[in-house]
Amino acid sequence: MSSQGRQPTDDRAATLDSKALVEFVDAFGGDVLLPSDEGYDEARRIWNGMIDRFPALIARCSGTADVVEAVQFAREHDLPLAVRGGGHNVAGNAVCDDGIVVDLSAMNGVFVDPDDRRVRAQGGATLGDVDRETQLFGLATALGVVSETGIAGLTLNGGVGHLRRKYGLSLDNLTSVEIVTADGLVRTASETVNPDLFWAVRGGGGNFGVVTSFEYELDEVGPEVFGLFVWHRGDAAVEALRAFREYAAGADRRASVLPFYATVPVLDEFPESAWGESAVVFLGCYDGPTEDAEAEFEALRTVAEPLVDFSDTMAYTALQSLLDEDYPDGLRYYWKASYVSELTDGVLDLVVRYGDESPSPLSTVDIWHLGGAISDVAPEETAFWHRDDAYLITFEANWEDSETDDVNVAWARNGLAELREMTVASGAYGNFPGFGEDPARLLFGDNYDRLIEIKAEYDPENLFQLNQNVAPDAAVGDTR
Ligand code: FAD
Repeated sequence: MSSQGRQPTDDRAATLDSKALVEFVDAFGGDVLLPSDEGYDEARRIWNGMIDRFPALIARCSGTADVVEAVQFAREHDLPLAVRGGGHNVAGNAVCDDGIVVDLSAMNGVFVDPDDRRVRAQGGATLGDVDRETQLFGLATALGVVSETGIAGLTLNGGVGHLRRKYGLSLDNLTSVEIVTADGLVRTASETVNPDLFWAVRGGGGNFGVVTSFEYELDEVGPEVFGLFVWHRGDAAVEALRAFREYAAGADRRASVLPFYATVPVLDEFPESAWGESAVVFLGCYDGPTEDAEAEFEALRTVAEPLVDFSDTMAYTALQSLLDEDYPDGLRYYWKASYVSELTDGVLDLVVRYGDESPSPLSTVDIWHLGGAISDVAPEETAFWHRDDAYLITFEANWEDSETDDVNVAWARNGLAELREMTVASGAYGNFPGFGEDPARLLFGDNYDRLIEIKAEYDPENLFQLNQNVAPDAAVGDTR
């Protein structure tokens, strides 16, 4: 699972051609950290505390030229190459053992063009970086629901957030990228320039190069939206989830709701009598007039006497960071998901059962309502295949104690395995990948064959393979 406990005794940096290493460091504008350097240990850490890897060097890029240097160095010295955007992918591919980490965390500039309604953000920006700048102009693009997440991984693999049903996936709002490909060239990809590459990066993950900047379309959002955040007691779970199913059948696309099964935290905001009890939570956003939002969400708020109801109009940026504290750096995480076409009674019973049996009070089972603008795009229009399923169900195992790793990972894996036995379940989502065990075809569906062809053209040696890998030599029709 993790490489926990390993020490950096196999110091790959020491085996590198020292002259070449010195030349690389001299040419590099940012910082290059070696295992013996102060700050190395902190720099190799990522959000998921399960991941404990020891790269040979960490190249903290200050701009695109550094990314080019790092890519070329990795290729010339046959080094495993990991790309770090926001460092928040659960599989931990942002860091590797014995290779080079192309770390973009210092490249987090965000530039808004309010007249053209576009924002260009560098590849290490977080959602919070982008929202902060775009909201200055009352604008936003569709990102995820936790502000500390990186835009890079989020966008390259999809991106579902509070605006998803109105404005689609994050990648649906992309207008172009600047990308450093395996040959070290800096390319633009858009609908008109390198359109095949643009198609591939919209859902093909980190397979095609290092994206140094993303340009997105912006829409008027907020500055206040209606945030839905109501908690119902676990004994009303089945009733509440069935009410959600009924609601979802006719939901307005201005509304995106995410029900999740959770444990009531020990916090003053919640009645003490309910601490540690199970609960069903409706989290959502309505981007429109408050009166309409109240009507839209009434059934979800009144299906039972709520335990607590925090729903209200709020700053869009406040909604975007509402959950930030629930996902601290260094905790242990394993998240995995499947799409479902329908919320059958069997699916809802499974959500409740696994919610009740979770070995950690921090874990949740989530139901993302999809559809709306996501389904307006045909599956073959971008590399992101799973357009037609109405829901995404995620088992989020979150826990503190490393002694309980096995039981927590098994909980998520078993839940997902049971779900996948149901005929309504299919596919996998690249942003909730577990440790990346799923075959590529499960993620990419019938887009996989075209992805193989584009991979073979832009990365024939598979330099970018620490991701949900599309192998350039995979045969068309391959089931890997
Ligand atoms: P990283 O770990 O830095 O990168 C992930 C992978 O993307 C890398 O291994 C690499 O293959 C690739 N990559 C990263 N940067 C680049 C780049 N610049 N160029 C090329 N490839 C690159 N997902 C949602 O859809 N919606 C949500 O609301 C949501 N909420 C989340 C909340 C939390 C707390 C967390 C931890 C995750 C959440 N996710 C969500 C999942 C999230 O989208 C993924 O974890 C995503 O991969 C994070 O991107 P990152 O840049 O931070 O990750």
